[in-house]
Amino acid sequence: MTPVHARRARRLAQVFNALIGRRALGAAVAATLAAALPAAAQTAPPKRVVATFTVLADMAQNVAGTAALVESLTKPGAEIHDYEPTPLDVVRAQAADLVLWNGMGLERWFERFFSRVNNVRSAVLTEGVAPIGIGEGPYRNQPNPHAWMSPSIALVYVENIRKALAALDPPNAAVYAANAAAYAAQIRAVDARLKERLAALPADRRVLATCEGAFSYLTRDYAMREAYLWPINAEDEGTPRQVRALIDTVRRSRVPVVFCESTVNDRPIRQVAREAGVRYGGALYVDSLTGPDGPAPTYLKLLETNADIILRGFFGNQATR
Ligand SMILES: [Zn+2]
Repeated sequence: MTPVHARRARRLAQVFNALIGRRALGAAVAATLAAALPAAAQTAPPKRVVATFTVLADMAQNVAGTAALVESLTKPGAEIHDYEPTPLDVVRAQAADLVLWNGMGLERWFERFFSRVNNVRSAVLTEGVAPIGIGEGPYRNQPNPHAWMSPSIALVYVENIRKALAALDPPNAAVYAANAAAYAAQIRAVDARLKERLAALPADRRVLATCEGAFSYLTRDYAMREAYLWPINAEDEGTPRQVRALIDTVRRSRVPVVFCESTVNDRPIRQVAREAGVRYGGALYVDSLTGPDGPAPTYLKLLETNADIILRGFFGNQATR
């Protein structure tokens, strides 16, 4: 009997388990595979972690490394504020050892969803983050949930993920700590690069004008101001009043460019660009990663890609690198 055979059997069972999302059947397959292969020394299979959206899943996978399997409930490109979980999502969460979510009101569907899941741990990744309030609209004064858009706050997320994984899986605590430290170093490096690159924006026009008010944390970090059509993805997106107000702001602040987000309709912001006579700079990535072939397949790439898009919007192609 070789440990390699045993590992392969467990790995196949995990993959099967992940595909069908049902622990009981996965266990049956594991037993069958184990019977077909020589008996193995018992070691625990990797823990299974489910995150509510792709950004959190990517962060968690970086901390987990190969010691735990991480998947996202929502797909790349999905709308995440008002996502409607499917029965299969409940099954996937129920089969997980740990569910990670953002909190601060981001996932308006989460608490109802999670009430249908029994005896699974969860961790809220904004624990300990000092929130910026939402400035207007029906969610006024509630926390703006897009805290991961600040790389320095992302370090808090990473630490919360590390703590949750270590509590779940103490034998691998040192692995998670090492992975978290390495990933935190990468985040700090990207943060430093973004500070340097975005310093090039003109002092009197450092306004990031977008569709959703999702950049409060990012603009605070990089000494910019924020303008948007609607404060947070909800019912009212791109009303005539919101369009008029942003056109006024864009004219007043003499911003040369406006942006949108990849997960929402860009028609109203294009109208702003047309009527204010400024460029439409394209979609930034906030609430969702892209697939592996897109421009924002990981959280770190999301940050770098957004900086590229912002700089290109302000200066044209010569300013990006
Ligand atoms: Zn959002």
